[in-house]
Parts: sequence; C-alpha cells; structure tokens
Amino acid sequence: MSSAKGEILIIEDEVAIADIVVDYLKRDGFGAEHRVDGSEVQTLVATGRFALILLDVMLPGLDGFELCRALRKTSAIPIIMMTARVEEIDRLIGLELGADDYICKPFSPREVVARVKAVLRRHAPNEPQQQESTHPLEIDQDSFIVRLYGKKIDLTPSEYKLFSALGAKPGRVWSRAQLLDVFSGEKDVFDRTIDSHVKNIRKKISQFFPELDLIQSVYGIGYRLEI
Ligand code: CA
Repeated sequence: MSSAKGEILIIEDEVAIADIVVDYLKRDGFGAEHRVDGSEVQTLVATGRFALILLDVMLPGLDGFELCRALRKTSAIPIIMMTARVEEIDRLIGLELGADDYICKPFSPREVVARVKAVLRRHAPNEPQQQESTHPLEIDQDSFIVRLYGKKIDLTPSEYKLFSALGAKPGRVWSRAQLLDVFSGEKDVFDRTIDSHVKNIRKKISQFFPELDLIQSVYGIGYRLEI
C-alpha cells in the first residue's frame, strides 16, 4: 500500500525503537516498513517504493556505514543515519558516506518525523525520476546541473563550463590551452584561472566524495577527468 507522503524504510535492530518510529510516521500520513537488518535493503530500494531510509548505524551483519556506502553506488535515495553515540556523528560526517542527515539517539519520534520531512523537502525539487539513473556522472546542459553519484554539485557558470568540457570526454587529457578555449571570447581568463577553477571544483566534489580523484592533474600538460 502506498501512502500520499511516501514510504519510509526503517532499518533498525531495536524493534521497540522501530515500532515507535513506524507508529509516528504512520500517524503523520507516511507509509513505513521496518527491517531488523540490512540484508534486503538493496532489493527493497530497487523496487522504487521508498522515498527515504532511516538507517541505524549499529546493526547485525553489515553496519549502517557499509550499507550507506553500498546504497550510494546505485541509488540517490535520501538516507538519514541514526546513531546512539555522539562520537559516531563525527565519524559519519568525516566519512562522507553520502547520507543526507544524521540523528542522535535517544531521539523523540517527533524529531525523527520532522527530520524526515525536512530531508524530503530538500530533495523534492532536485529529484526527478531520472535520478534512478546509475550513471555516476550526469551533466545537464539545460539546467547547468552536475550530479555525481546522485549528489548535486553546485558549480558557478565558469566551473560548469570547464567541468562539462572535461566530463564530456572522460579519460581525455586536456592542456590548459585547450581548456582556455572553452572560455573563448571571455576576457581575463588565464592559465591560472583554469587551475583555480579546477581547485574549486575539486573542493566542492570532496565535500561529498573526499576520496574521489575525479579531476586528475597530468604533469606538465593539464587535466583529465577519470570516472
Ligand atoms: Ca542498533
């Protein structure tokens, strides 16, 4: 049965906690389904039925960190991590697993519902159906939007120009001079401007994917995008 506000998947081994959350979500008009571990999560998400996942960190089998990382390879579904330990929040943020929000136990069920709504709201305008695409890099020429593994990377128009040139031909090595041509007709664009754009793009990407070496420096020549 689907609900107007969306179906929420709760992965939580503590049944008592899950029951309360399910209850509050349903009272608020959401649909909610609960699993005690992550063994079925990929299959369930692949059905496309769920709008968001509430994912506990400490779980039997694969823990929430591993599940989140695995999910992000195939899906941009909003994920809120739940953790009992404040120090895990630091780890969660540091790891940049691609979770959308974090909530610390003990929480009030109302707080959970509020977070669910906030995350769904944040996602709503930017999450059309084609988000299900599994291509890691999407460059929308019309809207100037770049998505990497489903995460929207906010680029300036200049960064977008540069990035879409690199992204159009992954693996190709571009010299700085060739990249400057991307800006042909624009004043005040120099070699070092290319470098500073690349630096800024890398910084933006690293906020989501700190270990991803997407735009690689090619010594003595320029850059290439490898994905
Ligand atoms: Ca747990």
